[in-house]
Amino acid sequence: MSESPHEVLRSVFGYQAFRGHQQSVIEQVLSGGNALVLMPTGGGKSLCYQIPALIRPGTAVVVSPLIALMRDQVEALRHSGVKAACLNSSLPPDERRATEQALQAGELDLLYVAPERLLQGAFLARLSQLRIALFAIDEAHCVSQWGHDFRPEYMQLDCLKERFPGVPRIALTATADARTRREIEAQLFPDGVETWISSFDRPNIRYGVGSKQNARDQLLGFIRERHAGQSGIVYCLSRKKTESLAAWLADQGVNALPYHAGMLAEERQYHQRRFIQEEDLVIVATVAFGMGIDKPDVRFVAHMDLPRSIESYYQETGRAGRDGLPADAWMVYGLQDVVQIRQMLAQSTAPEAQKQAERRRLEALLGFCESTDCRRQTLLAYFGEDHAGQCGNCDNCLQPPDTRDVTEQARMLLSCVYRTGQRFGAHYVIDVLRGKDDERIRRNGHHRLSTFGIGEKLSRRQWFTVTRQLLARGYLEADAEGHGSLFLSEACRPLLRGEESLRVREDKASQRRSRSRATG
Ligand code: ADP
Ligand code: ZN
Repeated sequence: MSESPHEVLRSVFGYQAFRGHQQSVIEQVLSGGNALVLMPTGGGKSLCYQIPALIRPGTAVVVSPLIALMRDQVEALRHSGVKAACLNSSLPPDERRATEQALQAGELDLLYVAPERLLQGAFLARLSQLRIALFAIDEAHCVSQWGHDFRPEYMQLDCLKERFPGVPRIALTATADARTRREIEAQLFPDGVETWISSFDRPNIRYGVGSKQNARDQLLGFIRERHAGQSGIVYCLSRKKTESLAAWLADQGVNALPYHAGMLAEERQYHQRRFIQEEDLVIVATVAFGMGIDKPDVRFVAHMDLPRSIESYYQETGRAGRDGLPADAWMVYGLQDVVQIRQMLAQSTAPEAQKQAERRRLEALLGFCESTDCRRQTLLAYFGEDHAGQCGNCDNCLQPPDTRDVTEQARMLLSCVYRTGQRFGAHYVIDVLRGKDDERIRRNGHHRLSTFGIGEKLSRRQWFTVTRQLLARGYLEADAEGHGSLFLSEACRPLLRGEESLRVREDKASQRRSRSRATG
């Protein structure tokens, strides 16, 4: 071996020192052993295989499911003088032939391929004639059937063990929950592997989740009070909403632009470029935005709609504060968000096992939102990591939420749902509880129910909060027919029978105000 890892780090990549576990992972692969690397996004996973690729003789084969990221990586490597190329379906034929020739001639240090390409019989046969330095399996969580990025081809990568004995394999991912990790270990490394887990904590990010009242005003207040003139990303669920919200923010004097996959490519790239270059641009985007964007000074990430899961939340908020300076992860959510997601789950035509996995992910996310404990502890615990003590840098630590015993109200609501026949949405049920004089209620005879008017002490908004929390905790469900009719689930029985009580967090009048109090 010619050069040491340190020399390559300096001469090729221009860095002075290794970060975190990089060095010991590199040593493991150099010595021919298998490695599994769990590191948060931005942690520096790529060097873990790129440096061994340059030191070990032969070509390193990198399996990656994301063509755009492949291209970026290859470009960056070529820039540093590394002989790298990729093979995927988006390549013009002449370029593909050139790459195949270079591969055949042993001229490549690194070859990036899509998994389906690698697994083609003829291609595997050709590879086994060549000298392979190592296999790197990026986004290794794609092997997990429980995750939302499951790719069946990843399951077949276990054939590399038999077909290329003695060639080390390194798998990398930014998903670190224990279940996914065990699946990767079992599926990709039946022959054993050494695993490195980095901390997923991002201490400079302040987490905060509030209840949605008037989301636009809440967002504007948050930006004006904490991030005026700074860069940020605002995530929304729909393309239409990104456009209308960006336009509205611009009207309010915020430098804001939309971004979503339905925009023209040139316009999208233009907005992305401006985001990277400008220091005060707020991009209002769907989740299409963010992959592979490496902007260090994003000062906040805001969620106007619930992310898909805790993993998504972590990934998306992780784009804030890469420079290590203070940054905010801000989110508001409300009853409607929970109803919508419950409906999406109910409508899903996915196989039952997958639906159950989705449901569990949703439960975990809602649990995080409604939690009264330190957000960081809750988040890290999800990834199997202990955080010693409270973090002192999240909404719940800075201003411990008031909790309230709502057992009585919860019983009222549940029995009102039951007595009205489990056919109505939250608005109607709450009107009955509050004894509203309403034509439809009278027509249905619901003004004669024992639950009519028993809840007039609480405001409509307080009732919405109780409803949201019952939905979040799975005591109530919303049907899939679009009206969001509420019905009882098995889980609410102990509560109805008086065997269980329910304490929930008290919604603040406005998250904006509570946050500015918290920060003085
Ligand atoms: P990941 O794949 O884990 O998301 P990357 O491999 O893309 O992370 O690395 C994130 C950033 O950190 C890149 O800009 C990379 O060049 C930089 N980086 C990685 N390792 C080091 C290091 N040892 N010293 C300085 N910068 C590093
Ligand atoms: Zn905390």
